[in-house]
Amino acid sequence: MTKIGLEIHCQLTNLNSKLFCSCKANYREFEINENICPICMGLPGSLPRLNQEAVKKATMIAMALNCSTPEKIAFFRKNYFYPDLPKNFQITQLNIYGDTSIGGTGSIMVGDKKINITRIQLEEDPGRLIYEGSSSKNQITLVDYNRAGTPLVEIVTEPDFESPKQVREFLNILSDLLENLGVSDPSLEGAMRADANVSIEGGKKVEVKNIGSFHDLEKATHFEITRQTSLHSRDIDIIQETRHWDDKRKITISSRSKEEELDYRYFLEGDIPWITIDSSIQEKLRTEMPESISSKKERYISKYNIPPQVADVLSSDKFYSDLFDESHDETNAKEIANIITTDLMGLVDTREKREESKLSAKHLAELSNAIQSGKISRNSSKNALHEIIKSGKELSEIISELDLGNVSDESELLKIITEVISAEPQAVEQAKSNPQTINYLVGKVMQKTKGKADPKLTLDLLKKQIE
Ligand SMILES: [Zn+2]
Repeated sequence: MTKIGLEIHCQLTNLNSKLFCSCKANYREFEINENICPICMGLPGSLPRLNQEAVKKATMIAMALNCSTPEKIAFFRKNYFYPDLPKNFQITQLNIYGDTSIGGTGSIMVGDKKINITRIQLEEDPGRLIYEGSSSKNQITLVDYNRAGTPLVEIVTEPDFESPKQVREFLNILSDLLENLGVSDPSLEGAMRADANVSIEGGKKVEVKNIGSFHDLEKATHFEITRQTSLHSRDIDIIQETRHWDDKRKITISSRSKEEELDYRYFLEGDIPWITIDSSIQEKLRTEMPESISSKKERYISKYNIPPQVADVLSSDKFYSDLFDESHDETNAKEIANIITTDLMGLVDTREKREESKLSAKHLAELSNAIQSGKISRNSSKNALHEIIKSGKELSEIISELDLGNVSDESELLKIITEVISAEPQAVEQAKSNPQTINYLVGKVMQKTKGKADPKLTLDLLKKQIE
């Protein structure tokens, strides 16, 4: 049997500042080594000051993953030397004196499978190494410390996953959950990284480190299972080791360093006191948490009778569920859910397109009302939506500019219907004996009006004409 356990690192990208200083958490917008200060560089005499907001957000993640949340948390120094670590130690958490990390044991359901969470830690991200030069002879390594000190949450799971597919499903749920909490944007480069441990058939555990994205995590576990299965089938021993993920070649490579044997000489971070997060603070945090994805889904189904599949898609993405919640009322909820899931999701399917989109909740409300009142057909509404996203113009302006308004003038419509009836005598006869087939004639009218005929009015008039 395959067993996979994960250690997931996710940056709290939506915070203003780093974990222990006031440098920006959003280091991506800076020139190299311009987002640093004496604290995140660990200069002598500097003292860390814990970012309260980071503690709050990390606690919310723990709560959302149904983890226990200790009333007292502590920070530890993990000592090791590496060029990306300016202080020569990382401030992190450790459960050596009982549960003092931000989150204890918890669990989350992935389909029918329960995945147990071992713990959640709050820690600082190291800097970033940049390799330059094409061959090993002239290769140089540069260090960018802009990232050093960025708030990072580490989520450690039990080896409960049985396949890479389960890993992927879990990651999708986790990404949606983090986005819904408003703590992180998983689509940012480097925001989500992971290590995985993989074993098959009760064999030795292999640790795969350095996986730079959720996308690669599934690939890395898949590769590792295939590698181990191949060894196993040839009766070759699988050795317990640490391997690195090579993201260019998409393979795991044995790592010669003896990382697992390192003694990190953990000790309590004496510059940061123990933090109390008592039950009253925890209760307050729970009330500040955004509505969960499952509760949104439940609300959409029970209150507006939206089909479960549509509600599922709508609730799991914060961008769309926010738009839905801001735009709908009792009368147009279903129509708006329909516009979002059938048209909008295809039109703004990337981060860039979402950012450039000029669509507002007001636009959506107007568009759905226009469809419901027969001012514009569903067909034309797609064109209108496209134009709104591009220009942000008022719907009424777009309807008249692009001539998208429905043909709802009775005499004008009647003229077209008469034309269709005389051109389709056979279909008319059929519609008389079998009323179902009248839709064919409605379709012809739609064709002639380029989809702009008011469908209900068309049907009523057609029926009258045929009788
Ligand atoms: Zn700093």
